[in-house]
Order: sequence, then C-alpha cells, then structure tokens
Amino acid sequence: MTNVTKTFLPPLDEYNQILKQAWDAGWITNRGTLVLKLERELKDFLNVSNVIALTNGTLPLQIAIKALKLSGEIITTPFSYVATTSSIVWEGCEPVFVDIHPEFLTIDESRIEEAITPKTTAILATHVFGNPCAVEEIQTIAGKYGLKVIYDAAHAFGVTFKGKSIFEYGDVSTCSFHATKLFHTGEGGALFFRDDQMYETYFYHHNFGHKGKEDFQGVGINAKMSELQAAMGLAVLPYVPSLIDSRIKIVKHYHQELSQFNSIKIREGTKWNCSYFPILFESEAQLIESMKRLNGKGIYPRRYFYPSLNKLSYINYDPMFVSEDIASRILCLPIAHDLDMTVVDNICKWIKG
Ligand SMILES: *Cc1c(COP(=O)(O)O)cnc(C)c1O
Repeated sequence: MTNVTKTFLPPLDEYNQILKQAWDAGWITNRGTLVLKLERELKDFLNVSNVIALTNGTLPLQIAIKALKLSGEIITTPFSYVATTSSIVWEGCEPVFVDIHPEFLTIDESRIEEAITPKTTAILATHVFGNPCAVEEIQTIAGKYGLKVIYDAAHAFGVTFKGKSIFEYGDVSTCSFHATKLFHTGEGGALFFRDDQMYETYFYHHNFGHKGKEDFQGVGINAKMSELQAAMGLAVLPYVPSLIDSRIKIVKHYHQELSQFNSIKIREGTKWNCSYFPILFESEAQLIESMKRLNGKGIYPRRYFYPSLNKLSYINYDPMFVSEDIASRILCLPIAHDLDMTVVDNICKWIKG
C-alpha cells in the first residue's frame, strides 16, 4: 500500500540515544534540555530570529490570533487545511475569505483590498504546499491598512524566499511538525517571528500565562512541546536535507511523466521543499475515475485541500469560484523519502488510464 505520504522514522538507536538524556535528567516536559536544544537547532538550521516549540501546528494559529489581540474580521484563504479557518472561528473572529490565484494556489493578493472593512484586523494566509504567498505585496497592503499578517506555514519547513526563510515574513508564522509533515516530532509545531519584543507575549500565552511560578501575566493555554516530542525532532532534523533531496527527485520524475497535467506554479525566488505534489485534472469526474483506478492498485493519493473551506458548515457560505474549482480537481500524489521510482512510474501510468 502506498499512501500520499509516509512518516520518516529515524534509526531507533539514534532516537533512543537522545531519549536517554530525558531519562537521565528525569525530566520529560516543561521545556527541558531537549526542547531548548531543538529550538536552538531549528534556529540555526532555518536561519530564523525566534522560535517557540509547541505541541502541535494548530495551537500556534490560535495563540498568534490571541497574542496579536485580533478581533472582528480576519481575511483568509479558502484553500487550506481546516485548522486555518477553525482557529479564526475558535478565537471568536470572523473569517472573510478572499479567493486564490489559479496557478500559485495562494491567496490572490490583488483581491485583498476589496475585502478590507473597518472591522478587518489581520490577514491569515497559507503558503500552500510550501509555495510562498505574495509576501511582499501582502506586507504593503497590511502596512497601508494597519493589519497584522499571520502565515500558516505548516507546509513550508525549509522553504526560502529571496534568500530568507519564509518564516521570517509577516508578523508571525506557524508551522506544524505533525507526523505527515516533512519535518516532524510526531505531533508538534512552532511559532516563528522576527520581533524580539513579542517573545515574552507569545511565550506566556503558550504556558498558561505564567510569569514565574506564582504570578500570571494574562490568560494563556498549555501548548508546550514535551521532551519526548523534541527527542523525535532532534533525531529527524539531521535527515531533513536528504529527505528534501529525495523528494526533489520524485517531483522531477512526476513532472516528466505527467507533463500533460498542470501542477502548482512555484513563485519566482523560492527554494521549494517539494512537500507535496498536486496535479489538476480537467474535471472532478476524471479525478474520481483516476483515483479509483489507483486505489484498486493499492495507491492512496489524497484530495487535498478538499473541500474549499468557504463550504464548511459553520461558515456563512460565500462562493469562491477559483478555490472551489481547484479543490474539486486537485489530487496530491504519493511523495515520500523512500518512494521507489518504479512505483512512481506505475502511478504515472495508472493515472493516465
Ligand atoms: C497540518 C496543518 C495544520 C495543522 O497542524 P497540526 O500539527 O496537525 O495541528 C494547519 N494548517 C495546515 C495548512 C496544515 O497542513
């Protein structure tokens, strides 16, 4: 069976060796040495200003909204994972969707201004499949209207744009280290931000609002990463460059064999991480037919993102023509560090008929 992705598991003895440090210290959570070490290593590896390791990739979205004191309307993309929208709703704000660009698949920056109202406080956009949003144009708009910018960068581990980590754009970026993501800690995630002065604010929000043992700075939640998660991250991180290399090879192969299909257009200036490989069918019927054929051979690609988030039951429906159209025709093909090229060849053959 071949799934859309496969978790990279580091050699068990390497994981155990790191884990032993937690055993020796008798300390498995509350920001022990492994979490601190992972944060340091992430900072070096990604070349970013600030990082706070968290327990998953959804809480950083919620914490970002809370810490930036957002209210009212947040402009967002309908083409993302549900966590992008649900976090806005969970924090008592209203998601206002702006349709996506038909090739980049990220929020269409040319349509953001017309969606801004006096109630708008922020833009929350997703770097879809690791493809950066139009970060410079979005910054210009945000500056003009005094809006905050949050990026759901769950797919964007290791991506750079114009020579800088993509996590350095916007007010804050969130990442997921879920087992299905390129870099993972089993479950996990992080907040990345440039502004050193925001460190304390994000920090207390992720740790119950604690300011020291007995004092509280404000309302917080528990989103701390554990030592067990950090141990996995420390064991996986050294392999990330080779994981990306093997994905680049697979993506090249898919592109060659499936040249008649459109995929995602990567923005110029990007060093992409090949985190996903989507193809677009001409119709939903063709997608379903192709998917059934693959399933019959034990190949399980994934309709992702599907459905378009403006169709969620708890959202006042407003049509998003591009996003709904793309969501109905897009299929993410299997991609993993150890996916055999003969399997890739077969997948390409079976997609075509
Ligand atoms: C995976 C993902 C999330 C959620 O991350 P978790 O770690 O599973 O909470 C959020 N947004 C996007 C775009 C994702 O792909």
